[in-house]
Amino acid sequence: MWIKGKLYLGEVVEGCVEFDRKIKSIKKECKPDLYYPDSIILPGSIDMHVHVRGMQLSYKETVATATSEAAYGGVTVVVDMPNTQPYINTHERVLERIREFENFSRTDFGVYSGVTSDARVDGDPIAGYKVFPEDLEKPELEMVLSSNKLKVLHPELPISNKVLRESRLLWQEIASLYLVRGKVHVTHTTSLETIRLAKSLGFTTDVTPHHLLLEERDCTTKVNPPLRDKTERNKLLRALFEADAVVSDHAPHTAKEKELPFEICPPGIAGVSFVTPFVYTLFKKGVLSLERTVELVSKNQAKILGIKAGEIKEGYVANFTVISFNTWRYSTKFSKVTQTPFDGYPLEAKVTATIVEGKVAYDGESVYPIRGMNLFDKTEKP
Ligand SMILES: [Zn+2]
Repeated sequence: MWIKGKLYLGEVVEGCVEFDRKIKSIKKECKPDLYYPDSIILPGSIDMHVHVRGMQLSYKETVATATSEAAYGGVTVVVDMPNTQPYINTHERVLERIREFENFSRTDFGVYSGVTSDARVDGDPIAGYKVFPEDLEKPELEMVLSSNKLKVLHPELPISNKVLRESRLLWQEIASLYLVRGKVHVTHTTSLETIRLAKSLGFTTDVTPHHLLLEERDCTTKVNPPLRDKTERNKLLRALFEADAVVSDHAPHTAKEKELPFEICPPGIAGVSFVTPFVYTLFKKGVLSLERTVELVSKNQAKILGIKAGEIKEGYVANFTVISFNTWRYSTKFSKVTQTPFDGYPLEAKVTATIVEGKVAYDGESVYPIRGMNLFDKTEKP
């Protein structure tokens, strides 16, 4: 197969890429199978923080609906958090979870395990471990911290879960960084101070669009860690230049659950399809360079995860996100969540096509049931 158009290879050049499941060669001319004259062909976006749900939480979202929504948003790889039902932190459940993705995922994928005392999990093809605030006081944390695998930290202290929401203060986020070590990625940071401290400790960081853009108003904007005040949010805009990645923390709930009184309604925003058009809109507006944009949504995340993705390069997985710079207003399309606080947000970048494992997963209209792969399984598959 050949794809032709304006390619991002560190800079934008007219050219062609030959691929099957992997990228085989890059040339000037070809007879293309896929031709996008009015768009730009970018490395496939990655979202390393997604709550796909599925299993007993399939009433909120399934692997098929979440990954269809991801493909619609230009995302070619999702990495899934373990707090589904049942919780994913044993060898058997990790394998069961991977099977669920193998059967239904329309994008490439990875799964994180929760903190566990099951030593077999470390030999499983996982992306790493998710460390939640409550895990920071568990004895089995030690085993996870001494693993060479990636640890993704939700940066808050165990006490943050037990106090009133207004008391989930910033110092609890910052202090949690001192409780971990090793290959740590600090996710959904809400303050520039967290990012700078994490960097000084040798950790990587990400930020979500909702912590940059939204004000807490009702349950639709309820998330953990909480949205900060305007001053802190404005400072956090620097994260676009200092953090390593932008992720969605896609966390779908039913409309009914989100209508519960604020105190008891579940936290989480569905936004897996928002990140890529949002970040490329910042490029279009001249806020970010194209190089920085690609780093935030593709290249850096692939590096942090240790996968051969996120760049258009020979031998890398043939995942592409094709973007055109048209104005439109955001809404979800394939997710079970039909209302998000980003609805109607004006965007200037739109996904024309999403190519996963060398196949068209989304063509600007429909998603197709292509077979996503576990990029953390190092055994060769036919
Ligand atoms: Zn999360």
